[in-house]
Amino acid sequence: MQPSRFNIISRLNDSRDFFVVNLLSGQADLLSEEEVIFLERNFEKAPTEFLEKGYLADPAREMQQYHLRYIDFIEKRDQEEVQVFFVPTYQCNFACSYCYQSEYSAPPENLSPEIVDAFFSFLHTRLRGRKKYITLFGGEPFLNGKSYKASLAYFFEKCAENSLELAVVTNGYHLDQYFDLLSQVKVREIQVTLDGPEQIHDRRRPRKGGRHSFKKIVENVDQCLALGYSINLRAVIDRENMAELPALARFAIEKGWTGLPNFKTQLGRNYELHYCQDARNRLYSRVELYQELYRLIKDHPEILEFHKPAFSVAKFLSENGSLPDPLFDSCPACKSEWALDYSGNVYSCTATVGKPGEELGTFFPELKLNETAISAWQERDSLHIDKCAECSLQLACGGGCGSVAKNRHGHLLAPDCRPVKELLEMGLDLYFGK
Ligand code: SF4
Ligand code: SF4
Repeated sequence: MQPSRFNIISRLNDSRDFFVVNLLSGQADLLSEEEVIFLERNFEKAPTEFLEKGYLADPAREMQQYHLRYIDFIEKRDQEEVQVFFVPTYQCNFACSYCYQSEYSAPPENLSPEIVDAFFSFLHTRLRGRKKYITLFGGEPFLNGKSYKASLAYFFEKCAENSLELAVVTNGYHLDQYFDLLSQVKVREIQVTLDGPEQIHDRRRPRKGGRHSFKKIVENVDQCLALGYSINLRAVIDRENMAELPALARFAIEKGWTGLPNFKTQLGRNYELHYCQDARNRLYSRVELYQELYRLIKDHPEILEFHKPAFSVAKFLSENGSLPDPLFDSCPACKSEWALDYSGNVYSCTATVGKPGEELGTFFPELKLNETAISAWQERDSLHIDKCAECSLQLACGGGCGSVAKNRHGHLLAPDCRPVKELLEMGLDLYFGK
């Protein structure tokens, strides 16, 4: 018997307690220092419980179990619902200070019915037999202007005709102009971004020409919630607005949003995706962002009422009393996620959509796909990335983001490491610490 290669052992932040998390056996425990020594160095004398829980294992049997769980994972993933993003335009009425798409060309065009028909035909052919839903993405999909909106109306008609649910990622400014179209389809969720309370939000996410956007977005969120739409409020965080998070949390609490069943939140890390940002020094690394968030939550626990960060698997464990299934792959690109745009191009996901050189083929004027490039995305998982296959964090991390890995290393079969241990140190302390 040996210590399992999937044990993640470390010490809780601000505590004398240690923890072990093992995603393969599905077990987790708080440990004393003495028990850690049993696990790491003196395992012949370890209690039998450690063997039962898979913290100690026969390496050959453990690898057998690992391969069986991998097969399960792939089977489940092949049955998963597919999220298909559609970009009706790359134009936007906002001038966000950190937009990664601001250098993409955005010719002013209305969406043609031929493109819409070809998009739905792609869903019926390429994704035949898969459960799926559509997410409108941009640019900004809800622009002002009669002829643009009229061109989008046909898209909504086709969603309804095909009984496909629709989600929308919008800056929220012209949402009220689209309630009539939204009422024709089954809306899964509307994602809107607020980067903080009014002053900071308006500085980071002004309309083009520098005009404010906060008040109008808040009104639209109120209306959506009253109409029963599910709102996913996103805040994009960096060093400029992190300190404002408690104020944003209090704002949402005072509005009564956080008590509603159709309101949820997400925090996005502002990060450098494809090209230099105007103020790169305001970006956090993943671990820095969570360290700052952890400190802020300790001082302002009301943040948790607004948003409960995942801290790797810590939140899942605290809410479910068990660990999630092993994560062999954290990148859904070309597996359960695709992104297509109004020009007829096909991409792997939202990170690559619209980026020159990342096209995987076309769905209009003809369906022509680069199957070799698509296979490369589909084959990417933590088993096929050398560094990941040997990593003890593998089943919590899943190999990270394919697009980030490719930008950094020049190819897809490269890791995009998640600071799993540090996240667990903080998250287990927040959610289980005394
Ligand atoms: S490449 Fe990155 S952004 Fe795209 S699906 Fe994979 S993890 Fe998500
Ligand atoms: S991406 Fe890095 S942390 Fe994640 S499994 Fe691979 S090697 Fe480990």
